[in-house]
Amino acid sequence: MTTNKKRSLTGLKVTGNLHLGNYLGTLLPALELTKTYDCIYFIADLHSLTTQRDGNALATQTLDQVATWLALGLDTDKHTLFRQSDVTEVTEFAWYLSCVTGLGLLEKAHAYKDSLAKGLEINHGTFAYPVLMAADILMYEPDVVPVGKDQKQHIEFTRDMAGSLNALYGEILKLPEALIDERVMIIPGLDGQKMSKSYNNEVPLFCDEKTLRKKIMSIKTDSTGLEEPKTLKGSLVGDLYTYFGSVAQFDDLAGRLQKGGLGWGHAKEELFQVINEHIKEKRDRYNEFRKDEALLRNELKKGAEKAKALAHPTLNRVRHALGFR
Ligand code: AMP
Repeated sequence: MTTNKKRSLTGLKVTGNLHLGNYLGTLLPALELTKTYDCIYFIADLHSLTTQRDGNALATQTLDQVATWLALGLDTDKHTLFRQSDVTEVTEFAWYLSCVTGLGLLEKAHAYKDSLAKGLEINHGTFAYPVLMAADILMYEPDVVPVGKDQKQHIEFTRDMAGSLNALYGEILKLPEALIDERVMIIPGLDGQKMSKSYNNEVPLFCDEKTLRKKIMSIKTDSTGLEEPKTLKGSLVGDLYTYFGSVAQFDDLAGRLQKGGLGWGHAKEELFQVINEHIKEKRDRYNEFRKDEALLRNELKKGAEKAKALAHPTLNRVRHALGFR
């Protein structure tokens, strides 16, 4: 990691099996960024605790996530992949930031306000998570943090907190920039709503072929008769197809559906085929990596060492400025 490339940082929670929405919306863009940035990717297990109540699931899904990054081709020698909780100092740093963060700021957080509006039970972790997130970011001194338009607030809060500490103690923290992805792809799930574990409409990224087919065949379609013409563009099957099939494949299927005589069941089978074709090799690689827990744990160990080496200079500077000498 001693290149002069700019540094980019992203965290991904462990709150269930990764699905095609996570893959297209987060993992693929993150891998694309490895071409131009020094990337720091972390498994946000501490953040998951605001909702995750199953310790075994957290432990299993942490290794699932390591295997996923490796299967998708993340080069952990050139970049850094680590588990958030392996650098426990982040919670210490979060406390320092807490002490310069107004309640009013946290009350404006979208996630907190949404939970409040929905009448959900809110724990202190949910309320305080922007502080932990700021600590995650500031400790590793990234130049950019890639976010969707709707997540700009995270970076604004982080900059606010860093600004407060800098104003009080001198220029000790580096302010990151948001790297806004204007496209903000929202991948639809099996029922047409945003694909999400909370809607139970997700297609797991690395399930077996049989499950994948069953999931795809359960996509909601209208009841247009077999002989009648159907329009692929704008349909849920069509929307998902565009992410995996080529333009020529899409046009070919669209043409055959338009002629009539082809049912949605057939179109879904073709959708399954293109997704499976896209995923197949990656899934095989994932299964190989996932079997080798020693290798996965070794990756976490290696990542933790690299992450600590990046974090300690920042944290020592902060400790010194605050008076912990
Ligand atoms: P979540 O699993 O909801 O915590 O999301 C983890 C990451 O995956 C976030 O960065 C989301 O923006 C992304 N993501 C989740 N669901 C979708 C979706 N349906 N379409 C696009 N991106 C998604």
